[in-house]
Amino acid sequence: MKLHTQISIALVAGALAGLASNYFGIGWLQSTLVAIEPIGTAWIDLITMVVVPLVVASLVVGTASLGDMTKLGRLGGKTVAFYLVTTAIAVTIGLVLSNVIVPGGRIDPATLESLRNAYMDESAQQVQTAQAQDTGIVDMLLGMIPRNPVAALTEMRMLPIIIFSIFLGAAVSVLPEDTGGSTVISFFDGINEASMKMVHWIMKLAPYAVFALIAAVVAQFGLEVLQSLLVYCAVVIGGLVLHLLITYTSALKFLAKVDLSEWFKRIREVPLIAFSTSSSNATLPVTMETAEEELGVSRESSSFVLPLGATINMDGTALYQAVATMFIAQVLVGQLALTAQIGIVLTATLASIGAAGVPSAGIIILVIVLTQALPAGVDPAAGIALIFGVDRILDMCRTALNVTGDLTAVSVIAVSENETLTVDAPRKPSEARSAA
Ligand code: ASP
Repeated sequence: MKLHTQISIALVAGALAGLASNYFGIGWLQSTLVAIEPIGTAWIDLITMVVVPLVVASLVVGTASLGDMTKLGRLGGKTVAFYLVTTAIAVTIGLVLSNVIVPGGRIDPATLESLRNAYMDESAQQVQTAQAQDTGIVDMLLGMIPRNPVAALTEMRMLPIIIFSIFLGAAVSVLPEDTGGSTVISFFDGINEASMKMVHWIMKLAPYAVFALIAAVVAQFGLEVLQSLLVYCAVVIGGLVLHLLITYTSALKFLAKVDLSEWFKRIREVPLIAFSTSSSNATLPVTMETAEEELGVSRESSSFVLPLGATINMDGTALYQAVATMFIAQVLVGQLALTAQIGIVLTATLASIGAAGVPSAGIIILVIVLTQALPAGVDPAAGIALIFGVDRILDMCRTALNVTGDLTAVSVIAVSENETLTVDAPRKPSEARSAA
């Protein structure tokens, strides 16, 4: 049986087991499913273990083999532009849906009160964490330059790691023959190949991890809270699906010109893993492996576009932040004016760049968007408490979209660099003739 089939079966089986234990209140099953969660956590740790060596090695080799440094600038410009534009579209979709459906207007006061009582403490903690992390834009930019690259590596700070690896790769590429540049490249090439091998091995264990992770989440999940926030969840998930159907499929069809069904078939493991782990970072090795081995993207493009994407491209997170902010505003202070909503496009786009690719990063960063959008004096914690109960489930969905966005970007950018993908749409005879 193919791996993605095994993963899909594990996902459905885990969800059903969790649901049954929760719905029928089967205590022993619920505690067993919660008890096996460490199997999933161990797997996440295992795959995360590969992230740093893989990103460093592939970026050093990728940058060094670009040959021409102007290509690096072009690739960087295209990547950042694609990420910013798609994120802004995602936020706009979230805002339009929230204006049309008004999820915050459809919730009764008793439900609000019980949500607030249940989640106020956790919510206040999130706000504290966010305030401790919020160092301002200048410090955030300065933090991208790793004064000590080894510290950046040990703390797994992705942007500084990316910057250092690109610098190292660029320097290696201009070394004269006799100064050991090629030894450095073969060293990192070996590390890259070995990292990919580890990803292959670790992926074989993925179905067990997916079962454990999903079963534990669903078993612990309050079905009542899902019911009370059904419209809000439907707007977030509907927005994610629309973004996939409108933005990504158009980009893939018209810019990357790939065969859509083949493309989705080949990448399906990636959103499944992202959904189960709620982490773009933990999914990154699988995303890179899929781009190179399933889609035929070159190492230069994948090593450059994907690590950057896992860190700064979070369309799902940005869309969720737009809907969450609108929902909270509708409940606490009523509909927001157009200018405040334009502010949300800007802050949600920037805030999603600042969010790390780890579980629940989105809700912490939401504090920044809320503080900017809500009138002065409204406590963001009171808003976060309303949506905290369903955050995990929405985190899983937005992470799945985040990684699909990264793969869309890498496909579009690779094709724009004249790479031929293995999922290129069959050409019409006239196109094939003119290409020849
Ligand atoms: N978990 C998300 C990710 O890793 C970030 C978030 O929205 O919380 O992409």
